[in-house]
Amino acid sequence: MNEAGKQFNIRDYLREYLFPHFLCPGCGHGIALRALLWAIDELDIDKDRLAFVSGIGCSGRLGAYIDANTFHVTHGRPLAFATGLKLARPDLEVIVITGDGDCLAIGGNHLIHACRRNLNITCMMLNNEVYGMTGGQVSPTTSSERYTTTTPYGNHEPVFDACALAEAAGAGMVGREITLQTPGLKDVLRQGLAHEGFSFIEVMSDCTEVFGRKNDLGSSAEMVLTQKASVRPDFLEDAVDQPFRPHQIKTGVLAKNDRPEYAESWRRHIEAMKRERGHA
Ligand code: SF4
Repeated sequence: MNEAGKQFNIRDYLREYLFPHFLCPGCGHGIALRALLWAIDELDIDKDRLAFVSGIGCSGRLGAYIDANTFHVTHGRPLAFATGLKLARPDLEVIVITGDGDCLAIGGNHLIHACRRNLNITCMMLNNEVYGMTGGQVSPTTSSERYTTTTPYGNHEPVFDACALAEAAGAGMVGREITLQTPGLKDVLRQGLAHEGFSFIEVMSDCTEVFGRKNDLGSSAEMVLTQKASVRPDFLEDAVDQPFRPHQIKTGVLAKNDRPEYAESWRRHIEAMKRERGHA
């Protein structure tokens, strides 16, 4: 039930005339999209006020299926587009859907400055450890020793902790969740949407087709259970007894930084300067 007493029905938010969708069987991105739309429904945000900006990749394609204002922009640039959109139309609820390659590699600089500015935008970054749509290349979040089309001997780079970066760069709210914990993911996204400032939510998703098959990670169900096992037990009471991945992750709301929202801060500053100079 949402705040208006209405039951969530995902079909209210989808452009079903575009189906069948492009996602591979077992892909975690569909679960993430459902959680995001569920959070929006609980907050009862008017669809006319919703603006989704997405980049390139399997994550970026999700925006096309949402029945709201949607912008599919160039690779790595959704946060730059979203910044302009939010400044021009502060009445809109601007949401960015991006992937680990789009957000951390090609668009990494935009992420740093979006966090630093703290404009009221929610950014959902889907982390599937790979560039799925463009051919399965290594990304900044590919786990050590995993195989991709560009790391045939296994990845030898350390994993990029996107949440640590976002917190250090000043994001107003930082969170992370796995797709298996869908209600928990919805709750973190809901908190991000409600937060006045820049919210960065990392969703640990799964690329079953390109990444999972290349690394013999098993079925989609086996992949999400492995992912669940990588969550630090002190953050998940019922952690299952499975081998840990090379790195462990924390989930939930990881950081909050209550500082002035960018646009509001600018408006106040300009008004004060005008008064001071007699321009008001
Ligand atoms: S290539 Fe991977 S990320 Fe893309 S839709 Fe298929 S499973 Fe999902």
